[in-house]
Amino acid sequence: MKEFTSAGPRSTEIADELLGINSPHQISDAFAVTRTLPNELKRLVDISMNFYWSWQPEGAEIFRGIDPEHWDKCEQNPRHFLDSVSGLRLWQAALDEALVQRIAEFAQRMDAYLGEGQVDLGRLTTDGPAAYFCAEYGIHNSLPTYSGGLGILAGDHLKSASDLHVPLVGIGLLYRYGYFRQRIAHDGWQEEDYLDVFESKLALGPVLDANGERLKVMVHIRGTEVLAQAWLASVGRICLYLLDTNVPENRDVDKLITGHLYGGTAETRIVQEKILGIGGVRLLRKLGISPSVYHLNEGHSAFLTLELAREFMAANTGAEFEAAVSHVRDQCVFTTHTPVSAGNDIFSIEDLRNCFDSNFITALRLSEDEFFDLGRVDPSNDGEAFGMTPLAIRMCRSVNGVSRKHGDVSRGLWAGMFTDLGSADDVPITHVTNGVHHPTWIAPALQRLYREAIGPDWDRTVADPERWRQAVASLDDAAIWTVHLKLKNLLIEFLRLRTKRSDTGGRDTINEHLDTHELLSPDVLTVGFARRVAAYKRWDLLLSDMDRLLALVDSPERPVQFVFAGKAHPQDRTAKEILQQLMSINHGSNWQRRAVFVEDYDQEVARYLVQGVDVWMNVPRRPFEASGTSGMKAAMNGALNFSVLDGWWIEGHNGVNGFAIGPLEPEADEEKADEADAGSLYQVLETQIVPDFYDLGENGLPTRWIARMKDSIATITPQFASDRMVMDYIRRIYDPADQRRDNHAANGIQRRRGQTGRSV
Ligand SMILES: *Cc1c(COP(=O)(O)O)cnc(C)c1O
Repeated sequence: MKEFTSAGPRSTEIADELLGINSPHQISDAFAVTRTLPNELKRLVDISMNFYWSWQPEGAEIFRGIDPEHWDKCEQNPRHFLDSVSGLRLWQAALDEALVQRIAEFAQRMDAYLGEGQVDLGRLTTDGPAAYFCAEYGIHNSLPTYSGGLGILAGDHLKSASDLHVPLVGIGLLYRYGYFRQRIAHDGWQEEDYLDVFESKLALGPVLDANGERLKVMVHIRGTEVLAQAWLASVGRICLYLLDTNVPENRDVDKLITGHLYGGTAETRIVQEKILGIGGVRLLRKLGISPSVYHLNEGHSAFLTLELAREFMAANTGAEFEAAVSHVRDQCVFTTHTPVSAGNDIFSIEDLRNCFDSNFITALRLSEDEFFDLGRVDPSNDGEAFGMTPLAIRMCRSVNGVSRKHGDVSRGLWAGMFTDLGSADDVPITHVTNGVHHPTWIAPALQRLYREAIGPDWDRTVADPERWRQAVASLDDAAIWTVHLKLKNLLIEFLRLRTKRSDTGGRDTINEHLDTHELLSPDVLTVGFARRVAAYKRWDLLLSDMDRLLALVDSPERPVQFVFAGKAHPQDRTAKEILQQLMSINHGSNWQRRAVFVEDYDQEVARYLVQGVDVWMNVPRRPFEASGTSGMKAAMNGALNFSVLDGWWIEGHNGVNGFAIGPLEPEADEEKADEADAGSLYQVLETQIVPDFYDLGENGLPTRWIARMKDSIATITPQFASDRMVMDYIRRIYDPADQRRDNHAANGIQRRRGQTGRSV
C-alpha cells in the first residue's frame, strides 16, 4: 500500500504521486474478482459484495473460520481476504463440511432478505424513493469513507432503512485516501498516515450506462468541466452511490477533488461539496431515479438545492426564482448536526465566486448578490460569508436537530433567519433524536443470548418497547454476567495485542509497557472513553485532580482502569497537545498498567470497546454534544453510561440505567462549570459506581450492577435504535402532510429583492 505521511497533503502536492497509478485499466483491476474459488465457496463472492454480511453475527464468523489470522491481517475486508488468502486455506475450507453448510445457509438467508425488496411507505415509493445525501458513510471498516459520528450515523440510517424495506438510495463521495490512520510517536505526538484505498479491493461495483460504459456526470469547477464516475456499494437492500473524480479525462488537480475526507482547505471542501450536491442530483437523473424527497444529512450537500432550482428554471422559461424555491422546498428536508455556528461550513464570497461561474447564477435568474444572499443569515449584510446551513434552512421545507436539546439549541442558533417571528420557540426547527443500528453494535454473543431468551425475532422485538422490556427483565442474571465477562476478556486481549504492536519496551507513553500481559485486568472496573480529541470534549477533565484519580486507580480493594481512544483533527494542534499530555502521564502508580490508549479509533475498535467495558464515560462541555451515539451502542451491550447531561443522554437517563455527571444547566462561567463537573465526576465514581460494581450479592454476583445493566438494555435499546429514528423520519419528516411550514426563511430573499425593486 502506498503511504503518505505528511499531515493533510494538498491536492497539488500529491498530484505527482498519482501519475501512473490512475489509468482506467488499473482502477478496474483493483475491483475485479481475480481468483477462481473452489465451487463450495463460490457464494462467498456474492456475500462479500453486499455489506449485509457485516451486520450478521455469522457473516464475519464465516470468513474468520477460513483463516482467522489472515482475516485480521486483511482488516476484516472480505474482498481483500478472498483475493489473498492462501489456496491451502481455501481448499481446507472447501473440505470442511460444517463450514460449507454454514456458507450455504448464510447465502440462502441473504437471498431471502434481498428478495423481499422494498415497500411503499408514506410518501416514499419504489418509484419515488428518498435520496439521502451525506459527505461520509461509516458502513464498515473495509469501506473507509467516514471519519466519525456523522458517517456512522449515515451508515446506520442506511442499514435500518434496508431492514425496514424503506425505498431509499444513498449518495456520497468515494475518497481515494479516505480519512487518516493515527499513530502515536514516542513523544506522545499524533502522526497521520493516508492509505490509497483503491489498492485495497473495496466491495464496490462500477456503475455502467446502457452501453456498458462507465457512467459519468459533469460538474463545472474552477473553469473546466470535471467528470465524476460512480461506484455502487450494496448495503442490504439499499444502493449507495459514491462519486469519484479520479478519472483519466480530468486534470490531476481535479482527480484529487475526492482525494481526502475533510482533508484540505475551504477551497477543497467547496469543490467536494459541489460534486456531492450538484453531481449527486445529476447522477440520480442519469440513473433514472426520481426521488420524492431529498434528505440533506448535514449542510455539506446543500448545493443540491441550487441544482434542483436550476433544473426548474430551465424547464420553466419565464418563471421567477421564488417559484423554483417553492418547488425545491417541497422536496427537500435538512438535518443539522452542529450546535455551534463555528461548526458549520462557511465559504468566502471569493471561494464561492470561483466555484460557481456566472452562467450558473444567470440560469437561476439571480444577480450575484442575490445568489450570495442565499447562504447568509442576514441577506442585507454584504459582509457575511456564505454558510451551507443558512442555504439549507432556506431551501428545505423541514429542518431538524438530532436530539431534543439540540432542536432547542438550533432554534436559538438560527433565530436570526426568522426575524418576523416573535420568539426563538416559534422557529420552525424540530428534532429527531439519533439512533444506532442495533444488529451492527450488539455483540454477537449477546445477540445469541437475546435470541435464546426472546426468540428468533428478538431484533424485531425492539420495535415493541413494552415487550422488549419484559423480555429483558426475565433474562437470567448469571447468563448476562457470564457473557459480559467473556466480552470484557476479549476486549482486554484485543487491547494487549494492539498495544504490543506499538510496544518499545520503554515507558515513555501510556501505551508502552514492559509486559503487555500485565496490562488491564478482567476483574477491575473498566471505564471506556473514546471520542474525537477536541477541546469541547474535555479530555482533560478526568485528569484535573491527579491525586483523586490515582487514588481510584491504585485502590487495592476496588481499583478502576481506563481505556482511551480517539483521533485529533490533523490541523488541530491544541487537540494534539491534549492527547500528548494524556499519553505522557508517567506516575509511579498503577496508571501504566491500568490505563491504555488504543491507537486509530475506528469502527472495529469502537465495537470492541462498547461491547467490553463496564462504564462508558462522556464529559462534553454543554451544549456542544448535538446527540452523541457511542453511548447508545454501549448501553445496548449492558455498559452503563456515565455522562454529562447533554445531547441524547438527557432523554435516555432515568437514574437507574446509568449515571449523570453535573447539573442539567451548567454555570455560565466556563472554568467554574469545568470545576463543578470534575468534582461531580470523581464523586459519582467514588460513591456510586465503584460501590455498586464491587458489591456482591449472596450468589457472588454484583446484583445491583446487573439490575442496572438490564435496565440500560431494556430502556435504551428500543428508544435509541436507528429503526425508531428512520421510522420517525418517515412519519414526521419525509411525509410533508401536516408539517409544511410557512415560507418564513425564504422571506429573507424577498426582502432583498423587494429593495432592489424586483417583483416578488
Ligand atoms: C459511534 C462512533 C462515533 C460517534 O460517537 P460519539 O458518541 O459521537 O463520540 C465516532 N466514531 C466511531 C468509530 C464510532 O463508532
